[in-house]
Amino acid sequence: MKFYEAETDASTGYTGYLDAVHRWGLPGVQPCPTCRTGGGSPSLAYPCVDLSSLPEHELKKLSNPWPVPREEISRLAELVQPFAPPWALLKPGAQFGPLTGSGSGRFGMLFMQSSWSLYLRREALEQLRAAGVRGLHGCLIQVGFRGKNAPELLELQLELHGRIHPSCLPEGRKPPCPTCGNDRLKVPSPIVLDAASLPADVDVFRMAEAWTVILVTERFVDAVAGLGLDGVKFQELETR
Ligand SMILES: [Zn+2]
Repeated sequence: MKFYEAETDASTGYTGYLDAVHRWGLPGVQPCPTCRTGGGSPSLAYPCVDLSSLPEHELKKLSNPWPVPREEISRLAELVQPFAPPWALLKPGAQFGPLTGSGSGRFGMLFMQSSWSLYLRREALEQLRAAGVRGLHGCLIQVGFRGKNAPELLELQLELHGRIHPSCLPEGRKPPCPTCGNDRLKVPSPIVLDAASLPADVDVFRMAEAWTVILVTERFVDAVAGLGLDGVKFQELETR
């Protein structure tokens, strides 16, 4: 099976734009006293996770990205965990719930606003499912569009799979930070995938070792091409 990175296809001339954020999120983390890294990564998104039954004062904390101590992140992650899939990584900056806000412009059948979020029109999702594509867990975005032809877009909630093959990482890497566990990994370009880390039962997923990268299988790419779905293109990655 071949694997590809999904990226926006600028050649299609679509103008779609979402001025929107997820309803909730874990805050960023205050800088680590040892390695000084902090903040958070909003690329870890779980749009199908509904936190609305949590107490109001906790939801307020889950709506403010301002950095908090590491212990508070752990506490909030524990609150979120029962609502999240068992495989979910709950790291600082992780996003939950539907995308909310406003949108404008023209959208293709598939849409990426960033390298780490993939949206599909409902009809595209249904066609891909019917074609046997696996791992299509979508959540309807709650975005207001002006005009009559508002697209019905779903954001995919993506499982985490796939590691970088050790041969394309620099030699003599420092061990992870002893205080916070940050592994100081710089994603190489191009990425070579570790074949043993790739899933056999999912056709679209987020890279476990590079959260800003969305990977798809040959089956996904073939189905998109066969159905004539547009808006996103695919770059094959080497696996080893
Ligand atoms: Zn650290």
